[in-house]
Order: sequence, then structure tokens, then C-alpha cells
Amino acid sequence: MTFTYEALPMRVVFGTGSLRQLPQEASRLGLRRILVLSTPGRRALAERAGVLLGEAYAGLFAEARTHVPADLAEAARAAARATGADGCLAIGGGSSIGLGKAIALTTGLPVIGVPTTYAGSEMTPVWGLTDNGRKRTGRDRAVLPRSVVYDPELTLRLPVDTSVTSGFNAVAHAVEALYAPDASPIVSLMAEEGVRSLAAALPVVAADAGDLRARTDALRGAWLCGACLGATTMSLHHKLCHVLGGTFGLPHAAVHTVLLPYVAAFNLPAAPAAEQALRRALATDDVPGHLARAATELGAPRSLAELDLTEGDFDEIIAQAQARPYANPRPVTAEALRSLLTKALKGTLAP
Ligand code: NAD
Repeated sequence: MTFTYEALPMRVVFGTGSLRQLPQEASRLGLRRILVLSTPGRRALAERAGVLLGEAYAGLFAEARTHVPADLAEAARAAARATGADGCLAIGGGSSIGLGKAIALTTGLPVIGVPTTYAGSEMTPVWGLTDNGRKRTGRDRAVLPRSVVYDPELTLRLPVDTSVTSGFNAVAHAVEALYAPDASPIVSLMAEEGVRSLAAALPVVAADAGDLRARTDALRGAWLCGACLGATTMSLHHKLCHVLGGTFGLPHAAVHTVLLPYVAAFNLPAAPAAEQALRRALATDDVPGHLARAATELGAPRSLAELDLTEGDFDEIIAQAQARPYANPRPVTAEALRSLLTKALKGTLAP
């Protein structure tokens, strides 16, 4: 067995109440003027974080939006300059973390991440920017948060529907990490355990959103799955989700949830070790069917039609998905893509 594994320099503070560690995390990094970033919906939480930061709180930019529009990134960089920030605190889901990364990309300002969804961006050196309806992504160590504070209490109010789709978003990172061209046994351990943890926790969260123990397990699973995303190269599933989110404006986590069983059904026959790991994690012999059933039982959207996609969009999706080559366990032909999209549009795994 030969493989390469490169550990990312991540510091993680995990546990109930760990938000209170923010001042220590800021001072460890030597930060004295921190710009706090959030979406409009997380403003109150961001202000709470600001109070905790005390004198190191330089200001709040609470306008983060999904897929980091390029003009918004510019406005956030201007806010960082105007407040004389020497670092950022990104609190919320992938939209807030993504905005922190966009600032770090051009300024090098260190980012502290406080994730409140299961998207996993805080664990990756991957940045994304959307301009003129096209989402660009890249990898740069400068955007990797220097410190990540996971506090399960902050996820207690994450609505059940968002919790479920965000959890599937995390599972998708692990699925693609298991068959990635740069997969390794170390990352595969994290992937399998991340899926196991989320698969067990999400039904409990769906039944009782305030179950702190299940929230803790889900966040731990999301951390592991995010680390998988950060450590490996993603394939067809993430490519399609970028196109559907970036160009067609489909909701990020929901589109991951809908597509995952279809991409799994397409790819897993060519990735036996990944399929075995997922069978163990999900305790099933039918991984795609299990994922589809779980999504249905947990009340998630099940078809691309529900997300307002139409067959008329397929040509553009296929063209964009094939524009640049990427690794995948199976060759991705236009025909195969059309067949996969047709099934996902209808929401049925049957041919
Ligand atoms: P999001 O950050 O847009 O959050 C979704 C909504 O949930 C927002 O309105 C937010 O205010 C709200 N919310 C967040 N936490 C909450 C909480 N605890 N309680 C109540 N409401 C809460 O969505 P997301 O799915 O977390 O992130 C999606 C974005 O992240 C996309 O742009 C995606 O491309 C990006 N992403 C990037 C990476 C990466 O590695 N670069 C990885 C995953 C996702």
C-alpha cells in the first residue's frame, strides 16, 4: 500500500460552551482588531461573539450570502480596511466562512471560524467566488481558518430542514473523499466515521432539534467530513453541485441532498472500497437506496424538479460539467450525465 497524506495545520476547539473560548483563541493568534462576519440571519449571534471579543471587536459585517458574490467580497475587504482589522471571525454557515476566506485570499488576514451548520468549509483551504453567474473555486492555504471553534449549542436552533440537508452536504464530502484520486487510509477512516456519526445523529435531530447529544455527534461528524473535503480532490458530485448552485442558483445543501444517491449509484460500482466503507457506516447493502430513503424519511427535497430545475437546463449543465476535466471513478460522458440528471429530476433511482 502506498499513499500520501498531508495534515493541514488546523487547531480545533470542540465542545458545548466553547464559544466562550473566543478571547483566548484571538489572543493566541495575536489579534487585536477583529472584523466579525455573518449572514443577516446570524447577526445577533455575531454581536454576541463581538461582546465576547471585548476590546478586540473592531466591527461587524453581517451581509454574507451564499456562494460569495465577487462584489460582496470586495465590500467585505473594504470593511476590513475601514475598520483596520488584523483578522476576521466568521460565524455561521458556509456563506460566512466563505466570506472570511475571500478576505484572507487577497489580504492574508487570519480567520477564526465558528461554524453553525454542517457544511464543513471551515476545515478546507478551498475558496469560492461567484461572478457573472459562474462559480470559481481554488485551493490556497492562506484561506484555511487558523482556529475553529465548534460549539454544538450554536446549532440547537438550526432548523430541522437545514440540519438535514446540511448533514447530507457533509456526507457528500465523505463519499467523494472515499473514492478520490488522492484518497488515503487515514482520510477514509475520517470519512467512514463522519458518515456513521451523521447518519446516527440526523434522525434524532429531526425528531428533537434541541437534543444536545445528537447535535454534538452531528457536529463532530461534520468536522470529520469537512476535514475529508479539505484533504482530497472532489469529483462528479461536487462538480454538478457547483454548476447547479453557481449558475442555476439552486440551494447549496438541498442540491447536495438530492443528487447524492444518484451520483453514488453511478460511481460506487467503480469504487468497491468506498462502497464497502459506506455499507459499514450506514449498515446497509444498498448505499444509494439507503441515502434516498433517509432523505425522504427526514423530509428533505427528493428531486431536482422540486428545486425548480427543468429538462431544458440539462444541455448547459452538461456543457459546464464537462468543460474542464476532473478525476472520477468512472468516465463521465454526456449520455451518462443526462441519464443521471433525468433520474434526479424525477426523484427516482429506477432506470
Ligand atoms: P449558509 O451559510 O448560507 O446558511 C444557511 C442559512 O442558515 C443562512 O440563512 C444562515 O443564516 C442560517 N443559519 C446558519 N447557522 C444557523 C443556526 N445555527 N441556526 C439557525 N440558522 C442558521 O449555508 P451552508 O449550507 O452552511 O453553506 C453553503 C455555502 O458554503 C455555499 O456557498 C457553499 O459553496 C459553501 N461551502 C464551501 C465549502 C468550502 O470548502 N469552500 C464547503 C462547504 C460549503
